Amino acid sequence: MMSRRKLIAGNWKMNGLSGALGYFSELAPVAAGASADVLVCPPATLIHAAVQACAGTGIRVGGQDCHAQDHGAHTGDISAAMLRDCGASHVILGHSERRADHGETDGDVRAKAVAALAAGLVPVICVGETLAEREAGRAVEVVARQLAGSLPENSAILDLVIAYEPVWAIGTGRTASAADVAAMHAAIRERLPNPLTTCIIYGGSVKPGNARELLSLADVDGALVGGASLDAADFSAIIEAVSLENEPLR
Ligand code: PEP
Repeated sequence: MMSRRKLIAGNWKMNGLSGALGYFSELAPVAAGASADVLVCPPATLIHAAVQACAGTGIRVGGQDCHAQDHGAHTGDISAAMLRDCGASHVILGHSERRADHGETDGDVRAKAVAALAAGLVPVICVGETLAEREAGRAVEVVARQLAGSLPENSAILDLVIAYEPVWAIGTGRTASAADVAAMHAAIRERLPNPLTTCIIYGGSVKPGNARELLSLADVDGALVGGASLDAADFSAIIEAVSLENEPLR
């Protein structure tokens, strides 16, 4: 079986002033010994400084969104090329908070993913159902539709990451059960044009206490971590859970 290197990604959302950059000196030794790639997506104002703080550590820095155009009259927006220019390697796209707060559609996400890839960024494309959709038994149907609409057409040959984030588990302290996560990741993988090599990560209240169980699931290639990524010790513990995943749970 082809093995995919795991990815542990942190999403700081709208948190962090320049004083937060000391975080990276705490994270650097953990990332250096990690069995996973480590990505941190701070707010746009900190990307350049974070890239400098991470130089030589192997920690990658990403954006939380980008515009679909590469320049122009779009006040307040940032293009993928601008993110790349300040040293970002990845960009989160279609996060449920962007879909809810800014009305982003699957088509918008696809256009942004195309722009990200053209700029040399790896898109981290988020999909996930609401609680009402899960309770109605429509979770797989909803996620399949989001995938079909959000992935660029030639995604069989592209380097991208899928983040499965059930909306009801984000920032709520509620986590999907291991069985539900495993089933959804398998359903996503079946629908990918490049199933063997595409990294599918889980997001939704991942914490040091549940990371090991979630990360040990067959089709889970890592985690997208919101709240717990703001604390270097918690985020480090989640990164370290990757190397523990094959050890028996006591
Ligand atoms: C997220 O922001 O993508 C996320 C999963 O947040 P949290 O870990 O806080 O649920």
